[in-house]
Amino acid sequence: MIDDMLRTPEAIRDAERWTAHNYHPLPVVISSAEGSWLTDVDGRRYLDCLAGYSALNFGHRHPTLIAAAHAQLDRLTLTSRAFVHDQFADFCRELAELCRKDLVLPMNTGAEAVETGIKVARKWGYQVKGVAPGQANIVVAEGNFHGRTTTIVSFSTDEDARADFGPYTPGFTVVPYGDLDALAAAIDENTVAVLIEPIQGEQGVVVPPEGYLPGVRRVCTEQNVLFIADEIQSGLGRTGDTFACDHEGVTPDMYLLGKALGGGIVPVSAVAANADVLGVLRPGQHGSTFGGNPLACAVATEVVRLLATGEFQRRSTELGARLHAGLRSLVGRGLVAVRGRGLWAGLDIDPALMSGREACERLAERGVLAKDTHGATIRLAPPLVITEEEIDHAVAQLAAVLAG
Ligand SMILES: *Cc1c(COP(=O)(O)O)cnc(C)c1O
Repeated sequence: MIDDMLRTPEAIRDAERWTAHNYHPLPVVISSAEGSWLTDVDGRRYLDCLAGYSALNFGHRHPTLIAAAHAQLDRLTLTSRAFVHDQFADFCRELAELCRKDLVLPMNTGAEAVETGIKVARKWGYQVKGVAPGQANIVVAEGNFHGRTTTIVSFSTDEDARADFGPYTPGFTVVPYGDLDALAAAIDENTVAVLIEPIQGEQGVVVPPEGYLPGVRRVCTEQNVLFIADEIQSGLGRTGDTFACDHEGVTPDMYLLGKALGGGIVPVSAVAANADVLGVLRPGQHGSTFGGNPLACAVATEVVRLLATGEFQRRSTELGARLHAGLRSLVGRGLVAVRGRGLWAGLDIDPALMSGREACERLAERGVLAKDTHGATIRLAPPLVITEEEIDHAVAQLAAVLAG
């Protein structure tokens, strides 16, 4: 087939012509998907090793989730929170039980969950901790990624994400990630929360040193500061446990959830915390037109039930071990380092060989889709329904790319 007959080039040209260039997508145009596999407009198949940045932990179009969505579409899709709907209570209760927390607050996108966490922590600080008006401070980590709103990019340390979007929201202190002493030193009487990712996804799947998360927990408890874990990417099975914090037996005061919570079908996010924290909100103080809508709740309830079986966490642990073994065998053969946990890996490519972008383009030519982040780093986060054979296939294609 000559290039002119392919639909892909034209579809890419159209997409670039009519959109802001806030992304730099790989040159593939997907038209359908099932499980771990994507098909493009020209009928080529690709193994999905990004899974929508972990929004597709259960794979594309998981039958249970699709059935729940179809059934709900035919009954009720939106009420707003002005009225209660019949999907709301089950979702909130089952998610709260999964999180072992008293209460949840459903929103839509991850950034909204983070904003909700920040607002709740500040209000808790003034009303419960007794911080002086206007003085609340939140400690965050270098290399963080918590979303794209003006407040959230105010405390980003990525110049691309932050530059020219000021004036910036005050009230945040940035400390090095993984450094417990620096974190403890940054806390004072006005600190209301520590907000961190238990594993930094966008930064390249950076796992903190062992003992860091329990240390953060201890310091927060001692100083009467809320520990907010942004588990939007790390949570819901990705690392082999329900939450990445579970690996170190740590329970934060607040979970921020998103991405996979919507089953790859609808945007669903949530904050989960106990009543002494989330209970500070009264009617009129926070909300969202679409947050907790019936379609979102119907799908997300099934997501929570899939997670409650433990099957996906187990798959992530077992298949993750295979993935990491395969990737480690490439260290010194094109890879400089491999990090991660479960079915989640950050790979540093030897920068003398090629950039992360180039590696992802070559992988795409070989039918494997992954995404670069920060120069020579690639992130792999396949759907948790991926098989052993498919993992071996992905690793073999990566080996071939690195071998030139
Ligand atoms: C993706 C992500 C967010 C933001 O989620 P959106 O749905 O894109 O707003 C926040 N925190 C972390 C850790 C993320 O990975």
